[in-house]
Amino acid sequence: MIPSPSSLKEKIEHVTGNVAQLAEKYGRTANDVTVELAVKHQRVETIYEALTYHSHIAHNIIQQLVHTESELTQLHAPTHSTHIIGHLQKNKASKALSYSQCIETIDSYELAERLNNLQNTRIMQGSADKPFDIMLQINSSDADTQFGVSLNEAEELAFRINELPYLNICGLMTIGAHTDNEHDIALSFEKTRLLSENLRAQGITTLNELSMGMSGDMDIAIAEGSTRVRVGTAVFGKRELP
Ligand SMILES: *Cc1c(COP(=O)(O)O)cnc(C)c1O
Repeated sequence: MIPSPSSLKEKIEHVTGNVAQLAEKYGRTANDVTVELAVKHQRVETIYEALTYHSHIAHNIIQQLVHTESELTQLHAPTHSTHIIGHLQKNKASKALSYSQCIETIDSYELAERLNNLQNTRIMQGSADKPFDIMLQINSSDADTQFGVSLNEAEELAFRINELPYLNICGLMTIGAHTDNEHDIALSFEKTRLLSENLRAQGITTLNELSMGMSGDMDIAIAEGSTRVRVGTAVFGKRELP
């Protein structure tokens, strides 16, 4: 069920208020944790309305990203920032750069290199003027079913990608352990935070964001240092697959 207009506004306010309280509870300020609205499978009208209340959204599926961003532009939707939080195939790299401001799901050098070359071209052609923001996706619970670079291989990958001049590593993203065991979930977030501190200490000073936590585990993620939570269900309700 698509929430009625007033309840979408209330749900967004409820989630952002919750996140602000959690940030303060764990010694940070409300501004330290950004809520990204995970809009996969939502209708353009719903996303448009959400954007009148909140300016950060995130997409999983490139086809939906291209479709909705094109429509939103035509509708003169409010200015917003769009992150990619789903697995990105190399053949969709160009669209990803054109329709988003940050790709959170980089997990191979080949993908990064392709994006770097494409961004170089975009800068030469005048359609971009700075390195593109990316995050490394970390498979922090070593799950076979999750994308992301393993904790063991993440450092080497980060240093290699950091050499690419047209990409800017601004953070790490992870999906917490898929379990009801809160200790295991917290552990996967903690490992990701420790990795980011380690990479910063070794000179990747641009790496300041930790995209961790979804509707079901954002409290644990914020306790462990998350700076961006990706929230779908808590705002839009249970997704009906099209
Ligand atoms: C869908 C999705 C979310 C949001 O999940 P909810 O449980 O609906 O809040 C967050 N991150 C990623 C990568 C997703 O695909």
